Amino acid sequence: MNYEVLVIGSGPGGYVAAIRAAQLGLKTACVEKGLLGGTCLNIGCIPSKALLHSSELYSALGHTYAIHGIEVQGARFDFGKMMERKKGIVKSFNQGIAALFKKNGVTLYPGSAQLTSPTSVKVLGEELTAASIILATGSLPIDLPFLPIDEERIVTSTGALSLPKVPKRLLIIGAGIIGVELGSVYKRLGSEVVFLEFLDRICPTLDGSLSKAFQPLLEKQGLVFHLSAKVTGAKIEKEEIRILYEQQGASHQLSGDVVLVSIGRRPYTQGLGLEKVGIQLTEKGQIAINGRFQTSVPTIYAIGDVVDGPMLAHKASEEGVAVAELIAGLHPTVHYMAIPSVVYTNPEAAGVGLTEEETKKLQLQTKIGLFPFKTNSRAKCTGEEEGMVKMIADAQSDRLLGVHILGSHASELIGEAALALQKGATALDIATTPHAHPTLSEALKEAALALHGRAIHR
Ligand SMILES: Cc1cc2nc3c(=O)[nH]c(=O)nc-3n(C[C@H](O)[C@H](O)[C@H](O)COP(=O)(O)OP(=O)(O)OC[C@H]3O[C@@H](n4cnc5c(N)ncnc54)[C@H](O)[C@@H]3O)c2cc1C
Repeated sequence: MNYEVLVIGSGPGGYVAAIRAAQLGLKTACVEKGLLGGTCLNIGCIPSKALLHSSELYSALGHTYAIHGIEVQGARFDFGKMMERKKGIVKSFNQGIAALFKKNGVTLYPGSAQLTSPTSVKVLGEELTAASIILATGSLPIDLPFLPIDEERIVTSTGALSLPKVPKRLLIIGAGIIGVELGSVYKRLGSEVVFLEFLDRICPTLDGSLSKAFQPLLEKQGLVFHLSAKVTGAKIEKEEIRILYEQQGASHQLSGDVVLVSIGRRPYTQGLGLEKVGIQLTEKGQIAINGRFQTSVPTIYAIGDVVDGPMLAHKASEEGVAVAELIAGLHPTVHYMAIPSVVYTNPEAAGVGLTEEETKKLQLQTKIGLFPFKTNSRAKCTGEEEGMVKMIADAQSDRLLGVHILGSHASELIGEAALALQKGATALDIATTPHAHPTLSEALKEAALALHGRAIHR
């Protein structure tokens, strides 16, 4: 069969690219070797957020409700039901993508695709040709040589999202976003959760001061962090797994019933036949692309986790739309400065644009405004007073450079900041925009006012 566009991978990069290409009138097919929706839908964003919400509801019964004078006795949870609910959500979206493909006229080929030339791929013995091929094959978890993953006792995020029961002791190697989210789920459900983190802070992609303020809030919930801890080996025994690590020059060990290895992800390029067509990789093993998402073979494009940039679903989708539009002859832009990143814990943490550390590296002259949620009236009413908004603007032009939020609903609040950054807004633009009262969003306005030394409620 001959297509104008053929997409390999149906994650948030691939399926969005395929739908957009079809919307633009291009004859489009998508090849997927696993389940529709890729990592994000099946073993990433969606199942993790479903479990985070279920576990948070349970945890709130023990903590938050009492503050409001509500007594709950005898609350229990059914882990099996929680997992079934999660599965149901994933399944409904799997079907949703299949329906969207049908509606938009995208042909789906289940199976593994291998490039055979700059304009052809082989899928289950069948040769498909296309004027343009988009690689959207995503990423895989990085593992450690001495910890063979069995997805039962030694797990990646994939296994952690499908454990048969709540482990008594969960040891997590890596306190990045994925580790901290999954650690929160199991802590809320009763596990002892301990982290070993190589760096000297948790969630290192967050603004430094937010990351520092975040850690004690998670510790208050019982999560334990060992920072600057280098994991060096493991002893896998019948009863437990012992992890050996070094910290401040001394050797230590810790045991867990389940060990989650959450030390990052690597581009997924195996089996694609890249060598065969001469596609070049970067030093980090990502597919190298130019500003138009073209690989070293101009008819083959690449997007999402398999190329450089933050490994985020919405980044992959933005690139998916852009590459389809480029192929159709349009002139799209991806606003990388406006791509937010979120940690869906309680409280949440979210950031968009530059961190304070990045502005220093770039030697930018900045002004910073801070506003804590404890003086925000809505936060007082709901009892969600932890955290703050931090706003960074260029000292001369007042143009926003970065906005960082630690607090409940940060994932929703960051949208306003992303729009402001994309539109090149100034801190004063936010400060002078009416925000409904009482809302958490007023903390953004107040942080913008604080940046100009004129916060009202501080
Ligand atoms: C636990 C976890 C939680 C996450 N939470 C979030 C979150 O809350 N928000 C967020 O923005 N991001 C989150 N992410 C990251 C997000 O899932 C990824 O950034 C996103 O899925 C990348 O999309 P993609 O389209 O590039 O690739 P993927 O989603 O990885 O999809 C790639 C697809 O390509 C298929 N494929 C690979 N090779 C072939 C081949 N040769 N032939 C056919 N098909 C092939 C794979 O089977 C897969 O389905 C999370 C990730 C994990 C692991």
